[in-house]
Amino acid sequence: MRHFPIFLALSNRVVVLSGGGDAALAKLRLLLKTEAALHVYAPDPAPEIIAWDAEGRLSLHRRPMEACDLIGAALVYAADEDDVQDARTQRLAHGAGVLLNVVDNLEDSQFITPAIVDRDPVTVAIGTEGAAPVLARAIKAHLEEHLPAGTGTLARIGQGFRKMAEKLPFGRARRDFWQDYYFNAGPRALPQGEAAVRETLGTLLDDHLTRKERAGFVAFVGSGPGDPDLLTLKARRKLDEADVVLYDRLAPKAILELARREAIMIDVGKIGFGPSTPQEHINALLVEHAQNGSQIVRLKGGDPTLFARLDEEIDALTDHGIGYEIVPGLTAASAAAAAIGQSLTKRGRNQQVRLLTAHDTDGFADHDWRTLAAPGQIAAIYMGKRAARFIQGRLLMHSAAPDTPVTVVSNASRADQHVLETSLATLSADLDRCPDGPALILYGLAPRDALPTVQHLRKQEVS
Ligand code: SAH
Repeated sequence: MRHFPIFLALSNRVVVLSGGGDAALAKLRLLLKTEAALHVYAPDPAPEIIAWDAEGRLSLHRRPMEACDLIGAALVYAADEDDVQDARTQRLAHGAGVLLNVVDNLEDSQFITPAIVDRDPVTVAIGTEGAAPVLARAIKAHLEEHLPAGTGTLARIGQGFRKMAEKLPFGRARRDFWQDYYFNAGPRALPQGEAAVRETLGTLLDDHLTRKERAGFVAFVGSGPGDPDLLTLKARRKLDEADVVLYDRLAPKAILELARREAIMIDVGKIGFGPSTPQEHINALLVEHAQNGSQIVRLKGGDPTLFARLDEEIDALTDHGIGYEIVPGLTAASAAAAAIGQSLTKRGRNQQVRLLTAHDTDGFADHDWRTLAAPGQIAAIYMGKRAARFIQGRLLMHSAAPDTPVTVVSNASRADQHVLETSLATLSADLDRCPDGPALILYGLAPRDALPTVQHLRKQEVS
């Protein structure tokens, strides 16, 4: 991050701008939203600037800026759209030690003005360090569309009520109250006017003050195979509301960042007594936090009902009378099949697909190898990398065809996704070519032949 975003208090601070053309106008439109004392230096100003001066919204000086004009200024804008003039403003700003922005000149600027979505007092600032103005504009348009116009009004009324809300204990109770206001009661009351919103705040506070302590609760949330875009909306919401998040080692950073900033994040893939936390320790953590009344997200890769030790954790909760719910996620087999353009089932080819783990509590897992070895079988094998030689041996021993297609999809749906196309005979030898990371073995499936062509065609269309 080359630029650190801050919100500057500009009330009655002097902000100086040199320039009177289009670039100056664009910056002034933003600056006029603030309470700064604006001074514009422009021998030949645009009519809008003259009008703003007449309205007393800024002070216009029809001459070039001088060193003494910068004394005590908080910010300077070089907006003359002229290299020589801007260089002069730059020298003056450096001399006076005032932070400088040269319009459309990232290199010479000490600060930049972000794109802004204005729902005063809620302000969203978007910056791309000058890398992608188009992207900034797209994000701004998206936010403008999705942040209801009433957001600012709700925030302004809410701000005046903060003292009253302190009757609720700090922490979850108060947060629940505000959550209820901003996302339920407030937007519902807004169409009836500001007085209705104020009245609603009072009733809502009474309601929350008489509420019983919320009981601790655990949501077992599937985080999908890794791509944050494959997270369900419900998973996002749960993360956003959680007080505590317990996650495994492979949980991607982009997904963890969706949790509230105040949430306690516990990596149960690392802490404890070795490379992974013992199950009893995880169970104990869940119970302990739930008994403190926390809303917990137990984040599990893929779908929480598949090879995820869900039942052990549920048993621990039910033993202590703690409530829970399961939020399904997209399992690795679905992401791996998508990666190779195949269906997991197909009419006339296979009416069933097996989801297997290569490991169980005693080591390599045993399966009905004879049935699997029959022609046309398809299986998604989880945790299969280390057991690949064992699986291969068992299947060949039960007369599976050595040329049965096998595809290993590593890091499915992630940026480093990798597809290894092989056969049963060559599986264990070829595994060396897989990158690190979780890998799913699709037994009986090869990547769809047409896939490269489709991608090829798409690339041509783009270019
Ligand atoms: N509950 C998870 C599975 C957990 S077991 C799910 O539904 O997907 C862990 C195994 O899942 C890994 O060893 C690997 O076989 C598979 N896996 C998880 N994420 C994966 C990914 N992104 N790509 C490939 N395989 C993955």
